[in-house]
Amino acid sequence: MRHFPAFLDLQGRSVLLLGAGEALEAKATLLRAAGAVLREAAHYEPALLEGCAMAVAAGAAQADLAALHAACLTRGIPVNVVDRPEFCSFITPAIITREGITIGVSTGGASPVLARLIRQKIEAVLPPLLGRVAALGASFQAAVRARILSLPARRVFLERALTGTPADLALAGRQKEAEAAFAQLLETAEAAPRGFVQLVGAGPGAADLLTLRALRALGEADVIVHDRLVSAEVLDLARRDARRIFVGKQRALHCVPQEGINTLLIELAREGLRVVRLKGGDPFIFGRGGEEAQALAEAGIPFEVVPGVTAALGCAAQAGIPLTHRDAARMLTFVTGHTRDGKLDLDFSALARPGQTLAIYMGLATLPELRAGLLREGLNPNTPAALIERGGSPQQRELRGSLNEITARAPAWAGDGPVLLLVGEAVGMGALPERLEHAFA
Ligand code: SAH
Repeated sequence: MRHFPAFLDLQGRSVLLLGAGEALEAKATLLRAAGAVLREAAHYEPALLEGCAMAVAAGAAQADLAALHAACLTRGIPVNVVDRPEFCSFITPAIITREGITIGVSTGGASPVLARLIRQKIEAVLPPLLGRVAALGASFQAAVRARILSLPARRVFLERALTGTPADLALAGRQKEAEAAFAQLLETAEAAPRGFVQLVGAGPGAADLLTLRALRALGEADVIVHDRLVSAEVLDLARRDARRIFVGKQRALHCVPQEGINTLLIELAREGLRVVRLKGGDPFIFGRGGEEAQALAEAGIPFEVVPGVTAALGCAAQAGIPLTHRDAARMLTFVTGHTRDGKLDLDFSALARPGQTLAIYMGLATLPELRAGLLREGLNPNTPAALIERGGSPQQRELRGSLNEITARAPAWAGDGPVLLLVGEAVGMGALPERLEHAFA
């Protein structure tokens, strides 16, 4: 480590600001926010340093900078000249602030650009109202100490309170409820912990298509219950020591029946665990999230739903297919091609109506029946269509053509990944996007 990290208390202390310009103004703003009394000057004179706790300079003459630096070293006053490491006895980190919380990032001066990129990453994963959680903890500090005497027990309790329901409420800006939840948790501190289930959408595959809320849930989970559609890349983002339970589903090959999954979620939550039920795409789109939510509600288990990018959106974006189009599709229909008791029970007359895009999930196996039903109700067999496998992931594959063509070619083309079917005039109107390398993905 090249520098010693520290946070200085500058409340009411004098700080010399030498020079001018935007960079100096930015420092001035931060220093004022930290309670410093600023002494501003354009040129260096020794008397300026009298009683100063720190000196910061930018945009001053070289001779002034050199003199300031030398004087500060002699007097033991920390000095920073913006972008001139040779004149600095300390450097300033890239910072992330959340009300009472400040995070500083430093690369030891090696790469301010990298420090800023790291800052952006941290910025993205920290909820905007994180400071409220800190404030919540602070306001209960004395009460927690009084009630829970042992230090390890206090730590366990605080970990639970500051990542659990009180924290979630504080993060949502619901302060009164957060305080009530905290107080309630404290009252029952010795009682068994209460579990919680999050039904989380894992998106179509690429980890950077997760929502920030999903990422946070993964980072805090005690146990993750996932199925086949969830990519390894996404699972890698979960807390290292979280237990992972695979309840994979494949058409006609359900590893764990749905009732079994419902029971498992309820049992895990009753053990007091934070459970993440991780599903491909969005939990409420052909993901049986509704059934799980119902079972949890009936069992009295608190739960929430975190949406995900559903397959249709992931596939369409990466394939450059607009799902709606002012001229061609003023309606978008999500359909399942999955049969119930061996029958395709769909309203084909509605689906064959012009002016819409059909996003058909689980439709590969029933493609010939789907096509027949649509044509029977008058859909043009030359309507543009696409089959997209593993959409929204680096392995995406596509088969495009008219509905007739793709139906004929599908059996030879099909692989073993999940496939989405898109049908409609808009499917032929795309422009192929380029996948950009994200600088710091
Ligand atoms: N809840 C999921 C859908 C689950 S149903 C979602 O919102 O995306 C399973 C079907 O979704 C698959 O048979 C396939 O039709 C579709 N699907 C899921 N992920 C996919 C992907 N990455 N690429 C293409 N289709 C996908």
